[in-house]
Amino acid sequence: MERLVTSNLKLGIIAGGQLGKMLIQEASKWDIITYILDQDVECPARSIASHFIQGSNLDYDDVYRFGKMVDVLTFEIENINIDALKRLKAEGVVVKPDPDILELIQDKGLQKEFYLRNHIPTSPFRLTDSATLVNQLNSSGPGHRSPATTPGQPAPFSFPFVQKLRKGGYDGRGVAVIDSSDDLGKLLEGASVIEEKVDIAKEISVIVARNKKGEVRCFPVVEMTFDPQANLVDKLLCPAVIPAEQAAEAQQLATRIIESLKMEGLLAVEFFIDRQNRVIVNEIAPRPHNSGHHTIESIVTSQFEQHLRAILELPLGSTCLKLPSVMINILGAEGHEGPVKYEGLTESMAIEGVKIHLYGKKITKPFRKMGHITVLSGSQEEALKKASSVHQLIKVTAWKEK
Ligand code: ADP
Repeated sequence: MERLVTSNLKLGIIAGGQLGKMLIQEASKWDIITYILDQDVECPARSIASHFIQGSNLDYDDVYRFGKMVDVLTFEIENINIDALKRLKAEGVVVKPDPDILELIQDKGLQKEFYLRNHIPTSPFRLTDSATLVNQLNSSGPGHRSPATTPGQPAPFSFPFVQKLRKGGYDGRGVAVIDSSDDLGKLLEGASVIEEKVDIAKEISVIVARNKKGEVRCFPVVEMTFDPQANLVDKLLCPAVIPAEQAAEAQQLATRIIESLKMEGLLAVEFFIDRQNRVIVNEIAPRPHNSGHHTIESIVTSQFEQHLRAILELPLGSTCLKLPSVMINILGAEGHEGPVKYEGLTESMAIEGVKIHLYGKKITKPFRKMGHITVLSGSQEEALKKASSVHQLIKVTAWKEK
C-alpha cells in the first residue's frame, strides 16, 4: 500500500479530543489529510484538523457518512456505533483497528472472557447485573472473603469486590469498589462484571503495536500512580521501577494479547501487580493512551506515530528510550468550572526538561484533563522531584464572570 507517496491520503479519526489532536500532529508530518468527527465544535483537535465534521460517534448515520469521506478510518475512543463501522468495512473502507476487535473491547464482559479463553491472567469474575447481585447478596447474607479463586473459576459474590459496568465507563466512571455491605449504596445500575478486588502493589501499562505483516513492538513498561480522589493517573514513570523479569513478563503478555487478537494498530494494556508479585491484566484499549503521552519526547517513536505506522501498513518504529521521564496530567482544580485560566506555566517552563502540552479545552471542570507535562531527565529521581515542583506550580482554575 503506497498510500503515503500520493500525499492524498484521507485519514478519518472518530472523536477529536486530545488523543485525536496529538494523532493529527503526527499525521501532518506525513502530509496526511485529516478528518475529525465530533459533536463538540470546540473539541481540541478541531483547530488543527484539515476537516471537521460535526456528529455523534454513537449515531449510525453520522459515523457511516463520515466513514464514506475517508480512505482509512480510525478512532481515539471506544464508544462508537459498531454497526456503522462494520458496514463501512463491508463496503471497502479500511477501518483499523478492526470493528470486531473494538466490539470485543467495548464490552468488559467479553474482554474478560477473551482473557480466559487465551489463558491471560486476570482477576476472577462473574457477569451479572446489579439487581441479581443485590438479590444474591441479600440471600447469602454479608459475605466474607472467599478462599482465593484460581483464574478461570467464577468469583463468588463476597466482599470485597469490584463492580464494573460492561459498557461505557471511562476514567474510573463505571467502576465501584465495594469493600463491605456499607458500600452497597455505591452499586451501579446495569450489566456488569463483578471481579475479585486485587490487592494492588503497583499499576503498570504496556503499549504495544502490530502491523499487517505481523511485526510487533512494545514500548517500555510505565508505572502509574493514582490520585484516589480524582481516580485519574497522578504521575506516570517511564521506565517503571520494577524488576526486569516482571517488565519482560508484562511485555510478553501484551504481545500475546495483540497477537491473539490479530490486531493492526496500537493497544494499551493495563496491568496490576499484586502483593504476591503476580502480573494481572486489568483492561485493554485499542488506541493511543494516556499512559503513552511521554513517548512524544522520551521514546524514539511516539505512540501516535506508531499507531499511524501500524494502521497504514508501514514498518513499526523504534521504541528505544531516549531519556527517563515522569508525566503528570494537568487537571482542572476542584471547585472550579468555567472559562479556563492557567497559572504557573512560565515558572514550570523555566525548569529544564519540562515539556508542556495544553489540549485547548476552553472550559475547565474539576479533574478534567486539560493538558499534560512530561519531565525529562537523565535520572528518574530528578525527574520525579521536578515533576513534584511543577505539580505545585500549575493551577487550572476558571476566570470569574464579571
Ligand atoms: P476505567 O476503564 O474507567 O479506567 P479501570 O478498570 O481501569 O476503569 O478501573 C479504574 C481503577 O479502579 C483502576 O485503575 C484500579 O485502581 C481500580 N480497580 C479496577 N479493578 C480493580 C480490581 N479488580 N481490584 C482492585 N482495584 C481495581
